[in-house]
Amino acid sequence: MIHPFQVLKKEGTLNDVVRKAFIDAYGKRGMEAVDAVRENRVKKYQDYFVVVGNTDEYFVEGSFCSCNAMLYGKECWHTLAVQIAVELGIYDSYNLWYYKDGVDEDEPEYE
Ligand SMILES: [Zn+2]
Repeated sequence: MIHPFQVLKKEGTLNDVVRKAFIDAYGKRGMEAVDAVRENRVKKYQDYFVVVGNTDEYFVEGSFCSCNAMLYGKECWHTLAVQIAVELGIYDSYNLWYYKDGVDEDEPEYE
């Protein structure tokens, strides 16, 4: 099997050849990841990458993702989407700190 990231490098864009390579390698996870990058759902904040998923958004740092997959010992597609976006340089950059400016807004404060 050709590694999908090699295919990605060769093609240089998220065309259907690349999409198929990721689906062959990762199944549904590959498909979700490619489609998310295609739809510009990967965003780079100062502190984290953020991936807008189907029901929520998650922050990713390296191989860590804030979604539930980790709890079940699974790998989610969010981290894969970030890897693809970084490889191609396709992501929206925000001059914001995700953790400080966004994610905890709704958390109750304890005194
Ligand atoms: Zn995730």
